[in-house]
Amino acid sequence: MDNGHIQVGNIAVRRVCESETLRMPLSSLGPVEALIERHRSWLYPRFARSEDDSFSLNFQTWILDLDGFVVVIDPCNGNGRDRPEMPHFHRLNTPFLERFAEAGYALDRVDAVFCTHLHCDHCGWNTRLRDGRWVPTFPNARYYFIEDEVRRWDPTQPGYREVYYNINVFEDSVQPVIDAGLATLVPSDHQIAPGVVIQPAHGHSDGHCVLRVDHDRTRLWFTGDAFHHPLQVIDPRLTLGGDDDLARAIATRERLRETIAAEDSYFMPAHFQAPHAGKIALEAGEFRFVPLDG
Ligand SMILES: [Zn+2]
Repeated sequence: MDNGHIQVGNIAVRRVCESETLRMPLSSLGPVEALIERHRSWLYPRFARSEDDSFSLNFQTWILDLDGFVVVIDPCNGNGRDRPEMPHFHRLNTPFLERFAEAGYALDRVDAVFCTHLHCDHCGWNTRLRDGRWVPTFPNARYYFIEDEVRRWDPTQPGYREVYYNINVFEDSVQPVIDAGLATLVPSDHQIAPGVVIQPAHGHSDGHCVLRVDHDRTRLWFTGDAFHHPLQVIDPRLTLGGDDDLARAIATRERLRETIAAEDSYFMPAHFQAPHAGKIALEAGEFRFVPLDG
């Protein structure tokens, strides 16, 4: 176990786990039988369970601390939400905030919050319930929301399209931050701080973005839901579904894996099982995920 502390090159990242109990069949990614056969040696037992060929879709948040500038990335689902269409996220009561404290950070030390996109499992802990009201969880933070995402998910905007898995999310996890004056709406290419840059990675949702971090000779990409499982590094056509634009999501995966492999930079997806991060290698014409511990 990583104790929440993961060393990625020269950058220390903390992981705060919300849950590791949602299991998905590998087959939910698409036709994977041939891939499983070819990659069995490293898939099992870490990225798939042999009893039922399932994997864990982890829900976890990253804390990035760059010489005291603290960024929270993709703050999970949050407690106490009404998600009747999504039983796994409905009225959660997890010790996420206790785990956040155990990671060594008081909530008021967070300088920035970044949501790669505004699906329920990436923006929930933006807020918490206080005296019957949703209030920002990180009172001193600037929250960076992608303009295209707000246009796509704000029910009062013409770009809004309802999907069952994201009902109520904008209302309880995004609007209260805007109302509190802590939100900054930014384009898909925006520098939060020196070396901390939002980059477009559209497709999974209309405005989905990633975060590129350069610090102390290490480059790290927080890639959100551009990838849900290591098999998608090998075959970008695989998808867990829920994409606003699948063709665009596939093109994004292709571009990101090429970039990350060519740069030899680190890759930090939102949902991967331990060790959660790694690199991407191009070997004999095939891309593959190289976990942090090899
Ligand atoms: Zn997600």
